[in-house]
Amino acid sequence: MGNALDQKSIKNLAVRSSQLLDLYAHGRTTLRYRQLAVGILMTVATGYISPVVGALQAQSINNISNLSSKVQLNSIRATNNGLMLTVNANPQIRIQREDNPDRLIVDLQNTNLAQQLHQSTLPMNRLGIKQVRVAQFQNNPAIARLVFDLDSSDPNSKVAWQGQYIAATSTLLLTPSNQTAQAIPINPSVNPNLSLPRPINTPSSPISSAPAAIERLSFSSTGQLIVSANQPVSYRANVDPTSGTYNLTVANARISPNLQRPSLAANSPIERIRLTQVGNSVEIGIKTIAGWQVRETQRLNNQQIQLQVSLNSVVPNNQTPLPNNNPVNQTVPNTGDRRRGVIVVDAGHGGRDPGAVANGIYEKNVVLPISLNLGQALQAMGYTVYYTRTNDVEIDLEPRVALAERIRADVFVSVHANALAPGNSGISGIETYHSRNSTVGKELASYVHSQIISATGARDRSVRGAGFYVIAKTSMPAILVETGFVTNPTEARNLSNPNYQKQMADAIARGIDQFMRVRGR
Ligand SMILES: [Zn+2]
Repeated sequence: MGNALDQKSIKNLAVRSSQLLDLYAHGRTTLRYRQLAVGILMTVATGYISPVVGALQAQSINNISNLSSKVQLNSIRATNNGLMLTVNANPQIRIQREDNPDRLIVDLQNTNLAQQLHQSTLPMNRLGIKQVRVAQFQNNPAIARLVFDLDSSDPNSKVAWQGQYIAATSTLLLTPSNQTAQAIPINPSVNPNLSLPRPINTPSSPISSAPAAIERLSFSSTGQLIVSANQPVSYRANVDPTSGTYNLTVANARISPNLQRPSLAANSPIERIRLTQVGNSVEIGIKTIAGWQVRETQRLNNQQIQLQVSLNSVVPNNQTPLPNNNPVNQTVPNTGDRRRGVIVVDAGHGGRDPGAVANGIYEKNVVLPISLNLGQALQAMGYTVYYTRTNDVEIDLEPRVALAERIRADVFVSVHANALAPGNSGISGIETYHSRNSTVGKELASYVHSQIISATGARDRSVRGAGFYVIAKTSMPAILVETGFVTNPTEARNLSNPNYQKQMADAIARGIDQFMRVRGR
């Protein structure tokens, strides 16, 4: 599980900050969100989060060559109100604007891009931005450059942007400041002492034209879903993880009385499309069947919204994926019979989060092969398997749960390895956890636990109830298997042995299969 308490609290903060983004994006004021917001405020008060506005860092921009440690940019994700970057330190930011074509250049000083981000493109279609291109602009000194290709027909494209670094979650948030930016030259060599654009204190002009009419929805056999309007539209998108519905909110729009919509075949991956007039906006909810997802693709013109409906594992050809950008989309479902059952296999930790570390072993590296073996064994039994990760990537706890909910999994199994403080290296064995008040979770845990004990001969440290996030927040029967102690030399050796990993995986699969059969599947 990883024994560092501070790691857990960082995880919690990561979950909270993404909720906060949601809060700002939708202005929701439900009790749950208010509580989360209060959580954030309290955290700020105790000094865990130190927000720093990028503009304040401009003075030291000439000292960058003296810095020895470099910043690494690991991932970029579009949110409803901006961009969320994961970085290992706070980079100095320089934001510049260029006209014709209109672009915003965001340079992260002394920053290297993670390999998978090189030359990548992220579709935005919101906040006045068509897309964001990412590149290593310069190596020595290193500059990572984000180019925002602006949609000049959208008034939001005139707004200046700012950066805010949150140390506790290693997150850099880029958001519009809602102030108009001055146009300044982009070539740094022309003006090496360039500071950030000074915002002019005028709010961006609201869209004042007559509402656009949503006239047509079309859905092609290749999965392309196009929303067409009679004039340019701006929109934002979000996914409701519990219902699996993809929601578009089109600003300043109405539903045309002559709306044309596709007839959906019985075997269509789209279950339902619902249009609702909400004030001056049109909300379009697209619900897919389990295992399918909706993604934005690059708009060809601003009167249309282009979406791609695809299997979770499939990336459409007409856009460049950002690896690690959206981990839950990296899941690899097989084409097994859904009626046999859908299992989510969750390999713990990953990426910068190693989990427990002892005897030269990283938890993240031993639980991954066990999980992949487990998935294969389940597939061979006819189950449909989704993985939360299939390689060494960092994933928050929340999307792991969201995946299981979205695809309406029958069983969630999280694979971990245990650790104890120094002086306890003699302790070894298997612990299988279920959510404290879940009888059915306990039943699943018992089947799996006995299979592991009899297959491996490891010490029986019993089935236990606990409140771990992934088993507490999932609505289906869920377990977390502690496959052994990396702090015990013998068990550490076993856990890194491919034969033992396979033995462990097969035993977990047999336990799940037993559980499913008893429940009539
Ligand atoms: Zn763990």
